[in-house]
Amino acid sequence: MPNPIMNKLQRITEENLLEIEQAKAQGRAMIGFYCLYSPTEMAVAADAIPLPLCGTRNDPIADAEEILPRNLCPLIKSSFGFAMTDTCPFFKASDIIIGDTTCDGKKKMFELLSRYKTTHVLQLPQNQDPETALPAWHTELERFKTIIESHTGKSLTQERLRGAIRLMNRERAARKALMDINRKLPAPLSGSQLLEIMFKVGFLTNKEKGIALMEEIVAEAANNSFQSESSGNHRKRILLTGVPVGIGSDKVVKITEQCGADVVAFENCSGYKQAFAVSEEIDPMSALAEQYLSTPCSVMSPNTGRFDLLGEMIQDFAVDGVIDLTWQACHTYNVEAFQVNEFVEKTLGVPTLHLETDYSESDTGQLRVRIEAYLEML
Ligand code: SF4
Ligand code: SF4
Repeated sequence: MPNPIMNKLQRITEENLLEIEQAKAQGRAMIGFYCLYSPTEMAVAADAIPLPLCGTRNDPIADAEEILPRNLCPLIKSSFGFAMTDTCPFFKASDIIIGDTTCDGKKKMFELLSRYKTTHVLQLPQNQDPETALPAWHTELERFKTIIESHTGKSLTQERLRGAIRLMNRERAARKALMDINRKLPAPLSGSQLLEIMFKVGFLTNKEKGIALMEEIVAEAANNSFQSESSGNHRKRILLTGVPVGIGSDKVVKITEQCGADVVAFENCSGYKQAFAVSEEIDPMSALAEQYLSTPCSVMSPNTGRFDLLGEMIQDFAVDGVIDLTWQACHTYNVEAFQVNEFVEKTLGVPTLHLETDYSESDTGQLRVRIEAYLEML
């Protein structure tokens, strides 16, 4: 990509791997996380490095299928495949893995993953009830705190937790500002650029570097320095909702762009779901429990927060259409697609397209035909 900041991002990403090796050699703890429900602040407060581990590439899936069923979500197979083949530098660097009891496939996969690395699974409630689920989740996070403390040898004092919350809130604010620049018409960043930035920044061990880079990108984007020749007011504006996407699992974003539309916003957990601040006003453990439990993912039943967020984003980003993406065999997002269609199309009057696919390229032609037909209809 010609833009100098994208080159800088690439350079920082490469340096990051070296920084991880150096930090490891200096004895700094590394904690691998798989899901947005796990509070990374706990790792940061213990001066450990949180590493995101969700698998977004197709390469290790064939190996994973030797153990896992083929008709399982590609995200789970990719994550497990990287672990069993030991081909992900971030998994390799992690001293302990943190999972959550989210969907059935993922929580059962963690049982097998524990054969490769010490794994701790957080018992996530299935709903967000403030009377029952929140106290249970608070207790679970207290248990998590003692595990981090015993693993790192650091006491997670209120002061340390507050410091970590402040830092991560600054990162979230920078992430939100970055995503919000696409409220502009036309969108300054392409969906692919936005995804690449958010994905790569997520791996940076030095949070300050990531925050500074995102702030720099926001300033640059305000001067339209990212705009490509193809962007313009005539392109349809699409919001992507549903399952997480990343580099390697971004074919729907790419095809949509190739078909002449802009993916201006991501409502999924690779995007806007990471934008909400943890309260700095109340006791830090309560603040973490509240904010993390409120994550609007389909593993919650009911998941009303997703509809509130969708309603706001559709308006704020002035979108013409919503693509709802489900990974094959992801029952929670697949079932929820009916309600998404009902809410977005019938209540808000914005046409939706529900796509179910995996990480392979085998259905690219089919997807292109469906996306083209959908965009023509907008
Ligand atoms: S989609 Fe839901 S379960 Fe999956 S990583 Fe995101 S928050 Fe976790
Ligand atoms: S995409 Fe669905 S099936 Fe896959 S890990 Fe996330 S919630 Fe589970």
